[in-house]
Amino acid sequence: MGGGEDVACNRAGRFSYILVYCGQNIRSRIWSRRRRQKLTSIKIIPVKFCIELSLLRENSREKFLEKESEKLMDQQYHSTNQRISIHPSVLEMYERLNSDNMTNVFDRYLPQEKMRCNFCLQGNSCQLCSHGPCRISDKVGAEFGVCGIDRDAMAMRQLLLLNVMGSATYTHHAYQAFRTLKSTAEGKTPFQIKDVNKLRMMAESLKIPNSKDEKEMAWQLANVLTEELHHDYDDPSKMVTAFAPRHRQKVWRDLAIFPAGVLYEISDATASCLTNVDGDYVSLAKKAMRLGIATIYTSQIGLEMVQDILFGTPTPHEVEVDLGIMDPAYVNIVFNGHQPWTGFATMQLAQQDKWIQAAKEAGAKGIKIVGSIETGQELLQRTEMSSVFAGLTGNWLHIEPLLATGTVDIFAMDENCCPPNLAPYAEK
Ligand code: SF4
Repeated sequence: MGGGEDVACNRAGRFSYILVYCGQNIRSRIWSRRRRQKLTSIKIIPVKFCIELSLLRENSREKFLEKESEKLMDQQYHSTNQRISIHPSVLEMYERLNSDNMTNVFDRYLPQEKMRCNFCLQGNSCQLCSHGPCRISDKVGAEFGVCGIDRDAMAMRQLLLLNVMGSATYTHHAYQAFRTLKSTAEGKTPFQIKDVNKLRMMAESLKIPNSKDEKEMAWQLANVLTEELHHDYDDPSKMVTAFAPRHRQKVWRDLAIFPAGVLYEISDATASCLTNVDGDYVSLAKKAMRLGIATIYTSQIGLEMVQDILFGTPTPHEVEVDLGIMDPAYVNIVFNGHQPWTGFATMQLAQQDKWIQAAKEAGAKGIKIVGSIETGQELLQRTEMSSVFAGLTGNWLHIEPLLATGTVDIFAMDENCCPPNLAPYAEK
């Protein structure tokens, strides 16, 4: 970003953002400052105001910023583009997508919205077996599906299947984390044990023998966490026992929702959703709760702890986000999805002279690692901004606008939030 185009906002004792929008190019940046970890405002400021700002006294600035950003937010909110995005950068790139006639998430939404079906919206439809699709409708006296399931169980069964997909995806991520920890302990990855205290805390909580050898402890922790994923009901989960509040554990036992390992629960829930297995909405709802508890304790907590052990526990720091972080003068490698392994590994390589020289010989200023979606958040919360790390672009609605900037050299996707139809962008 060129001189004079950005404005840092730092209101003492508060956590504030300013986004500066710079005319024709998307060159915006959010500055964040954490004070008492409290988010108090988001401001969007066109660049023309920067000049006016510089002429104002400190106390007048605050009022000016508030008034102008409110005005701009109001304009955005009431403009015809409001349904697209509140981000000027995305709106600008949306214009580009339109002029280039590129398929995009915003335009694909409209035709779908015109034909959404009320039965589907209310959960009163089912197409799980060849007797269907079935719909519940009082108008035609269809109180049950062909199999006999009622509307409550039909809706709850559908919800449970959605729960299964979410749990399975988190668990996929968790399993990769545990494997990465084990491989790191065996010296097979470029990573190190970064948060030794957290490793020791986890080991102690799970009754893994204390050892001076950190790699040995990490190896054992990876094994215990992996075993916890498919732990059955025969003896209580170590993770739930160690980390869930004791009084809740009793409530869960009384309700018969104290879970087994998440893979066991995924299997149990999925089998319950087959036609003519479980047609009781209370029973299905309890399976959803059991699955939720299993997901948190046997998948997600271990996942987060392991990522902290490998890459460091997140700390508050100043960050840069939005599409304005992209600089066409660099080789830009964007990591998108949910899993940070390749992003962290590439960041290490991108700092090596060998690769910086290779980028320069190809005519670039260097290499930038860019985060997108949750993969980007994983990188961002543990990494300071640097000559190599550019920051976070945004959520998955930013992907097509990001590609429309023409600044992305590699878009590396790992898990969820990786849209299925990006080939036209690669060709363009
Ligand atoms: S499972 Fe029941 S409600 Fe669903 S499609 Fe088959 S018969 Fe219809």
